[in-house]
Amino acid sequence: MPDTNAAFALETHPLVDWTAPCGLPDFARIRDEDFAEAFDAALLAHRREIDAIAANPESATIDNTLAALELAGQPLSRIAAIFWCKAGAHTNDVLQALEREIAPAMARHFSAIAMNAALFARIDDLYRRRDALGLDPETAHVLEKTWKGFVRSGARLGEADKARLAEINEELAGLGAQFGQNVLADESDWALFLDEADLDGLPEPLRAAMAEAADGRGRKGCFAVTLSRSIIEPFLAHAERRDLREAAFKAFVGRGDNRGKTDNAPIVARTLALRAEKARLLGYASYAALKLDDTMAKTPEAVFGLLDPVWREAKRKAAEDQAELQRLAAAEGLNAPIAAWDWRYFQEKLRQEKFAFDDGALKPFFRLENVIAACFDVAGRLFGLIFEEKKELATWHQDVRVFEVKNADGAHRAMFLADYFNRPSKRSGAWMSRLQAAWSLGEGATPIVFNVMNFAKPPAGKPALLSLDEARTLFHEFGHALHGMLSEVTWPSVSGTSVARDFVELPSQLYEHWLTVPQILEKHARHYETGAPMPAELAARMEAARNFDAGFATVEFAASALVDMAFHARSEAPEDPLRFEAETLSGLGMPDAIAMRHRTPHFLHVFSGDGYSAGYYSYMWSEVLDADAFSAFEESGDPFDPALAEKLRRHIYAAGGTADPEALYQAFRGQMPSPDAMMKKRGLA
Ligand SMILES: [Zn+2]
Repeated sequence: MPDTNAAFALETHPLVDWTAPCGLPDFARIRDEDFAEAFDAALLAHRREIDAIAANPESATIDNTLAALELAGQPLSRIAAIFWCKAGAHTNDVLQALEREIAPAMARHFSAIAMNAALFARIDDLYRRRDALGLDPETAHVLEKTWKGFVRSGARLGEADKARLAEINEELAGLGAQFGQNVLADESDWALFLDEADLDGLPEPLRAAMAEAADGRGRKGCFAVTLSRSIIEPFLAHAERRDLREAAFKAFVGRGDNRGKTDNAPIVARTLALRAEKARLLGYASYAALKLDDTMAKTPEAVFGLLDPVWREAKRKAAEDQAELQRLAAAEGLNAPIAAWDWRYFQEKLRQEKFAFDDGALKPFFRLENVIAACFDVAGRLFGLIFEEKKELATWHQDVRVFEVKNADGAHRAMFLADYFNRPSKRSGAWMSRLQAAWSLGEGATPIVFNVMNFAKPPAGKPALLSLDEARTLFHEFGHALHGMLSEVTWPSVSGTSVARDFVELPSQLYEHWLTVPQILEKHARHYETGAPMPAELAARMEAARNFDAGFATVEFAASALVDMAFHARSEAPEDPLRFEAETLSGLGMPDAIAMRHRTPHFLHVFSGDGYSAGYYSYMWSEVLDADAFSAFEESGDPFDPALAEKLRRHIYAAGGTADPEALYQAFRGQMPSPDAMMKKRGLA
């Protein structure tokens, strides 16, 4: 790249120099047009830092090599953090066009670092001498992780293979960006506009959300079914019109699968072929073997060893449920086998019949404000955290809430930003990420983390009421946020959620358990109009119905996890991925009336980037841990047992990736769990 950016004032640019109160970026000074030039300058600056480390005439030391490498590129990290935040939570045409360029440029940049021979020679030198360096355990662990990361990224390949690998990484990054944009386009373009007369069976809060969604799309007075989970799932559970359920369901599972401009099938085929080639170049039997190398599971066989027995039990349970659903369908005059767009509807009826329990009956007790308060209360009881809202601080959208997080002694710990409501500029799903990680190396840094959700926005003046699932999602993402905010590590690369993929869902899934402990329900699950607590018999029915849909939920999850593994555990990519998906499901004996939770053409976890490829199983792997970890609190008889909470903080939430996950877990619990507690928690034992 020509050296034209020398005069660009990177250090004082608003994307890099975060001057708003509490260490936040001043979003009012950040313009979408500024990213391109800032990225160019920051990439150049980072490259120069790397070159200087690699060319250092002194022999390698931890300071002049490992620490210098870890602390290099901070302007780039800051610019990228804001960019990816906006690209996910509040995008537009300018950012989308830039994303398609930036993703490959970043891949090219980091490939060049990973394959920099002089730099690797210094890391390799340190690694060979590691036993003589007198390293503390965290530093020794970081050195080993760094060395392995270089090797896994191609540092030891010949020049021709390195060049090919860099090309592959760059192309994969572009494909991932396009995949995600296609799904977003299909989600924001599709809506089914209905009149009042079409709404039979729909509960009032859903009608209000659909009216708001229609209004947002310029059709005031109508009711819109959209592909946001907050609308489509309750719609499928309650809509009495079977033809409408069918139309909505087909649009939902057809995202990215349309033979048109936003068709993701060719992107998937190309992605899988490149991933298989990458694995071959790096000497692995499959892409799954490559991706699993630094996880707890370690091998595809271990993943199948977890999923296969779960799959058999889930299918058995789903088949039992299906017979009951068919009986209810017949009673309503449906004389055909129930279809995938019927399952949620009749399941809801069955829940009514068995437990006289309607998920909608809980919503008045799960007002968003109260669920947030419950979430903060748990963090206070377990970890002593205090949350103060900063209403005056603006971010990337006016809906985003900003909180300063303090320790029990009042000292600043972190910033927590939360973006709860669905909008067309936001990709679907729920996630946590960070603008700034926490570490103590060099000048150190305090964390700025954020949560993004897609709850339906209530009409002005009305409160947002959540379903039980949505309240769990809020707790889940907040658990990830705590992993970022409680982090106490020296090295940036092992901060917070920078841990093995199949360990990272432990802090989040574990946190979900506290939503329904009696102390929290009693205090926070209050009716939004009367303030009355949730009646004990409703809470009991909620508990009784907890695993009511275990068969369905586990089948839809495990089918996605198994298809993800089937794609990536082969040495050769399938030519026609959608046919392969169908054949894999048929080979597994997938029930016709249940769809994968994420079908391949919109499986963002696996194809919009590399995050969860050969990794969707991770949720269940972590669930084995979280079920067992919460039992520790149950066994103690106190869900807020102070001694246990302190162990949990120290070994799990604060520890990041400073040691092997098995060692961290055992330090908390004493031993590794078997899958039994997870099967029991899911109601499959
Ligand atoms: Zn998660």
